[in-house]
Amino acid sequence: MNDLKRRRVLLSAPRGYCAGVDRAVIAVEKALEQYGAPIYVRKQIVHNKYVVQILEKQGAIFVDETEEVPEGSIVVLSAHGVAPCVHDEAKRGKLATIDATCPLVTKVHREAVRFAEEDYDIVLVGHEGHEEVIGTMGQAPARIHLVDGPGDVAQVQVRDESKVVWLSHTTLSVDETMATVGELQKRFPLLVSPPSDDICYATQNRQVAVKRLAPEVDLLIVVGSKNSSNSVRLVEVGLEYGAKSAHLVDFADEIDEAWLENVTTVGLTSGASVPEILIEGVLEFLAERGYADVETVRTAVETQHFALPRELRQSRAELLGRAHPTTEQGAEA
Ligand code: SF4
Repeated sequence: MNDLKRRRVLLSAPRGYCAGVDRAVIAVEKALEQYGAPIYVRKQIVHNKYVVQILEKQGAIFVDETEEVPEGSIVVLSAHGVAPCVHDEAKRGKLATIDATCPLVTKVHREAVRFAEEDYDIVLVGHEGHEEVIGTMGQAPARIHLVDGPGDVAQVQVRDESKVVWLSHTTLSVDETMATVGELQKRFPLLVSPPSDDICYATQNRQVAVKRLAPEVDLLIVVGSKNSSNSVRLVEVGLEYGAKSAHLVDFADEIDEAWLENVTTVGLTSGASVPEILIEGVLEFLAERGYADVETVRTAVETQHFALPRELRQSRAELLGRAHPTTEQGAEA
């Protein structure tokens, strides 16, 4: 049995909500407040069960595709971004859209469009099937090749090996991505890198903090949903940097008491789509079991903030007018 007095929690900082998630969640809340329920949301606004449940209670309706949304409704597009065809579908369905795509995802979209226009082949490092990857690939489908790790590099076929650039999904493991890029550089020595980091500041900061505390912890608890890429990466990074065990949970009641056996130090962090209330629940759970001593391990201070989507400045009539303008307004019929 471990010494009760030495039991402690190392609380990772930064953790939880990033600026992109904060903006997307507030965008749905503001839309509900300004335009009234229901507000439709395409896909989970952010990959977190709790956030989705709370917004549903306030009147948000989550759908998989815009085709499911009744004509003349308002639909918010999630933080992960969409392919241009989704905007076209929304227009055809006479929907007003509020685009909550994180500006850092939009930055990757713009890079993809620009490099495609300059006739590059683009190698996108990312996880197949993730919404963000689908949205980015949709920016230039004929030019983008997806690689999910170093093992995929050999299969990439490009038109001109001197015109290849790599981009990445924003929420990957920094180390794994660089391993893939290393393989790409061996294969394409003239490979061009993105003008600035695609893996976003929030993903990097949360990984750096976990790397710092991982060697000291017997158990790392990451609060986050299973479909949250950056949360899953935190579990992997923790194990790689020395945590003896690591688990991903949505809520405190998913923690198995058996995980705490012989555990003196618990590391605690959360993914970029996790509100602090869920961390508080885990801290309470741990305190009740003797882990009341909490020490914060901070590796960065975040000040990033994004303005809300500009569509929210419009009235409902303006938004819907924009969605299906009349000929008198000089727009398309
Ligand atoms: Fe934007 Fe990064 Fe947050 Fe994703 S994790 S929403 S890219 S800030």
